[in-house]
Amino acid sequence: MAENKTVDLSAYKDVWVFAEQRGGVITPVVFELLGKGRDLASDIGDVKLCAILLGEDLSDMTTQLFEAGADVVYTADSPLLKNYTSDGYTKVISDAIHEFKPEIVLYGATHIGRDLAPRIAKRVSTGLTADCTKLDIDPETKGILQTRPAFGGNLMATIKCPNHRPQMSTVRPGVMDKAPVQKGRTGEVIPVTLTLQESDIRTKIIEIVKTAKDMVSLTDAEIIVSGGAGLGDASGFELIKKFADKVGGVVGASRAAVDAGWIDHSHQVGQTGTTVKPKIYIACGISGAIQHLAGMQTSDIIIAINKNPMAPIFEVADYGIVGDLYKVIPELMEAWG
Ligand SMILES: Cc1cc2nc3c(=O)[nH]c(=O)nc-3n(C[C@H](O)[C@H](O)[C@H](O)COP(=O)(O)OP(=O)(O)OC[C@H]3O[C@@H](n4cnc5c(N)ncnc54)[C@H](O)[C@@H]3O)c2cc1C
Repeated sequence: MAENKTVDLSAYKDVWVFAEQRGGVITPVVFELLGKGRDLASDIGDVKLCAILLGEDLSDMTTQLFEAGADVVYTADSPLLKNYTSDGYTKVISDAIHEFKPEIVLYGATHIGRDLAPRIAKRVSTGLTADCTKLDIDPETKGILQTRPAFGGNLMATIKCPNHRPQMSTVRPGVMDKAPVQKGRTGEVIPVTLTLQESDIRTKIIEIVKTAKDMVSLTDAEIIVSGGAGLGDASGFELIKKFADKVGGVVGASRAAVDAGWIDHSHQVGQTGTTVKPKIYIACGISGAIQHLAGMQTSDIIIAINKNPMAPIFEVADYGIVGDLYKVIPELMEAWG
């Protein structure tokens, strides 16, 4: 049976964002969480937007968090926290939650966020909704409404956490708008009480290896040119790459193209790939399955090239070209100049 302790909800206040950093660089999703966190804080009213930052030599990162809207940055500065470990980060953040009692804690649904948040949820006995794509405040209860795709994206579930605190969500990267940067903005730094010992951390990091692959930054791209099964074979991506270079974009792909082995998974857009929100998304030979749309339908402008006029991608496209992509793309490139 679930534990049914009564929690004094009024003891919990403020919206927290976990400021994930790797090698001293704040992960981009943190700025999206601060953007969303600001909306949530103003919808609740009279609460602060806070970040919690763990690592070593934090001052530059603290400045960036203030400039992106944090009113308070809780800091834990220690060589033991320089790199992420499940044990170290779980202990420090769980202790800080007990100490400062935030009402909401948001984490990016990155590999680190997805590892960390469930451990903290268990440790502080609260609810967690994973991989949210929409967050709102219930105007009546001021509690958070956490919406996430379920059953392969066929159902959107809205989940509440009425009786426990904090209310915690991991949030899918690339879905929320980034907080605007306000140069020179500052706030309050509050160090958390650190009782972490080296022996608390059961894993030892021996080496951090970065893949030598070209880094694909789909989430930051303003223009994405994606190829799907309609390319017919792997060499089709040469054309997609040329097209992307021409328009200053990054190459994306459908899962069908990834599963066929034509391109690496890091390019995949969709529910089980990356969620993107570029200014322009050009879908070439992609049918527009719901799992693909889940990852790109909030793009500002969608252009679809497909030889089947009935393809579902045309339902979300702002501009559609019915035709063979091998004819259409070279013509578009020529017209581009
Ligand atoms: C749990 C789950 C998760 C999934 N996650 C993802 C995901 O993250 N991302 C994703 O993309 N999919 C995902 N899928 C798969 C998804 O359901 C579709 O199978 C996939 O998106 C189809 O890819 P496609 O559009 O490239 O291929 P198809 O559906 O085969 O479409 C190819 C399109 O190309 C067109 N075409 C063919 N030749 C040409 C030509 N010469 N010129 C122009 N057009 C042409 C055809 O008309 C067709 O519309 C997931 C599925 C499941 C069940």
